[in-house]
Amino acid sequence: MSFDPYAARSDFPILERTNRGKPLVYLDTAASAQKPRAVIDAISDCYENHYANIHRGVYELSERITRMHEEAREKVAAFLGAAESREIVFTRNATESINLVAASWGRQNLAAGDEVVITTLEHHANIVPWQLLCEEKNARLRVVPINDAGELEMHSFEAMLSERTRIVAASHVSNALGTINPVRKIVAIAHERGIPVLLDGAQAVPRFGVDVRELGCDFYVFSGHKLYGPSGMGVLYGRAELLEAMAPYQSGGDMIETVSFEKSTFKSAPYKFEAGTPDIAGAIGLGAAIDYLAGIGLDAIEHHELELTAYGKELLEAIPEVRLIGTAAKKTGVLSFVVEGIHPHDLGTILDMEGVAIRAGHHCAQPLMERFDVPATARASLGLYNIREDLDHLIAGLHKAIEMFR
Ligand code: PLP
Repeated sequence: MSFDPYAARSDFPILERTNRGKPLVYLDTAASAQKPRAVIDAISDCYENHYANIHRGVYELSERITRMHEEAREKVAAFLGAAESREIVFTRNATESINLVAASWGRQNLAAGDEVVITTLEHHANIVPWQLLCEEKNARLRVVPINDAGELEMHSFEAMLSERTRIVAASHVSNALGTINPVRKIVAIAHERGIPVLLDGAQAVPRFGVDVRELGCDFYVFSGHKLYGPSGMGVLYGRAELLEAMAPYQSGGDMIETVSFEKSTFKSAPYKFEAGTPDIAGAIGLGAAIDYLAGIGLDAIEHHELELTAYGKELLEAIPEVRLIGTAAKKTGVLSFVVEGIHPHDLGTILDMEGVAIRAGHHCAQPLMERFDVPATARASLGLYNIREDLDHLIAGLHKAIEMFR
């Protein structure tokens, strides 16, 4: 499928805005993606023409919005290749999806002395919930090391699994380095030992096609806002069998079957995990984002981002003062780096004055920064709307910063 990123840019109204008086060069898509008109319109249309609460009303409007909400779930199920839409739980974000699994599945399945295996590459969202669970259960959190390129040490991973390992939780793509992890291999190795696997796909789903059944994972999570959809909208995929066996995470209205002061009974999955009024327009907006991406084709987006990543890497490597952090053979969408003698925050500020929006900091991956012995990095991350000229602007800004600090 041929894809024209220059044409796609006109789908994103915000790209016409300026930043500090300069044309906006948005290189922070890993933090949150900008929204195409199709998503903005779908959300407006929901509030203007269809809005009511779901599941409760007997009137036409409520029935229609309930149907639209469930259609969004079906779109997500198809997008992830799930077997059934009941395997899709709507949450607020990837963070809440992981917390749900840790709090529900984790509490039911972990005992003292058990182990949870994560990796050095994880975002805090895939560290802290497991850490808290391990503290509560007197279990042990084990961390798969990485090499200097930012790739998982798969021998260590294999050696780390034992009869005490209860779950493996790993990112599909690292938000701080862009490393694409060998998740099929991770799942296969863990499953050989009967260990379930949660994959954090927050940085993967916007960049290439994902099929959870092909991957074979047990849980898969992502955030709508990184998928060109609205913020406040997240997804947990869980194999039906696992979700059905899990206890509710939060409780209240909409997730119950019956309530009495003595005892309550709950709906089946996914509804038992969706207490209270959800982000109705958010689900519809997420469905619109999935339709938008399907219209372009994720293969085309993948190809475009890989090409741009290689271009950016080449430009950065040509600057002697720059050190790339994360040089995995398989990486996409993220260029993390440090510049000799310039703190990443200063760099971020100087680039901002040039209209270039990057992220500077620890990227919610403090242990990973420690592994590379840096307090922070500058991170340029790519989206489908980025073009080579964006990276040229980044490089021009870097040269300016280097001159200033000379
Ligand atoms: N996991 C990864 C890999 C991420 O990149 C992020 C956000 O940057 C998260 C989890 C958390 O996402 P959210 O803040 O939307 O819950």
